[in-house]
Amino acid sequence: MKRTALVLVILVAIAGAASLRAVVGRDGGAPKSNGAMTRTIPKAETTAAPNVPKTSRFAVPVLMYHRISDLSDKERLSPLMRDLTVSPADFDRQVRYLVDNGFAPLLAREVEEAVINGRKLPEKSVAITMDDGYKDNFDQAFPILQKYRVPATIFLVTNTVDTAGHLSWDDVALMHGRQVGYGSHTVHHYDLPDLSIFQIDYELRESRRVLESRLVETISSVAYPSGRYNQTVVERARAAGYLAGWKKGGGPVQPGAEVYLLPRVRVNGGSTMADFQRKVWSGANVLADRRDSEFMRMKLARKIRQVREGGV
Ligand SMILES: [Zn+2]
Repeated sequence: MKRTALVLVILVAIAGAASLRAVVGRDGGAPKSNGAMTRTIPKAETTAAPNVPKTSRFAVPVLMYHRISDLSDKERLSPLMRDLTVSPADFDRQVRYLVDNGFAPLLAREVEEAVINGRKLPEKSVAITMDDGYKDNFDQAFPILQKYRVPATIFLVTNTVDTAGHLSWDDVALMHGRQVGYGSHTVHHYDLPDLSIFQIDYELRESRRVLESRLVETISSVAYPSGRYNQTVVERARAAGYLAGWKKGGGPVQPGAEVYLLPRVRVNGGSTMADFQRKVWSGANVLADRRDSEFMRMKLARKIRQVREGGV
């Protein structure tokens, strides 16, 4: 009996050390070495394989962008503008990185459907989303998306379409169906929790109505302006007929996620490539950490069985 207890204590200690190592690795970002289970950012650039492995236990970082533009001298003075704006050169590098490293870029809709219907997604999935419908999404981002054949989802504020600095309905129509999907970002971009139920309903329903009549397709999701929501907002989004809602922050989207509070990973202006890589590998690292702990659990169970069967 004593020997069993001692062996169990040792095994539990080994498992604990392994899971601690996994946690340390996750915080440390993508480039890391973990004994036999190495997961590093591949140095050699590879093209995405056509038959990528899929999993129903996916972890997808859904990247959230705003403006893709070079800043004017005046804009450069504003911390908010610097934070909102990724340069076209950086965006090009980032999108190319996804393609070169075998990531499968998805529309937000595909991620929503996988969560709702329990569908499989490629193991190395990622999605690009852009909020607010800035003009540069068409002028700067769209040519880059086309160059690499990468899809993206734009969350539009319907009242600002066709206004200065924003997409026109013609831009929206032109990109529609050419790798770009759309969602609602409400009518006015007000913080929804601050509004009356009547106003919340208007923001959610009117934006959806306008988008659906312009695009002649179902608009399935809403991104809450400034990521702000409360229980009423979620309930009204469901009642307005949306199938999904997007917030900000919260890591990669995983099965079982609350579908009206799907998380996104923000890409800020001035982020380094290392920052970006850490964000896009966060999903793959979740899968690898999960595999590690399952492997350790199985190993532990096998050892315990062996000890017990040893007749101790
Ligand atoms: Zn916004």
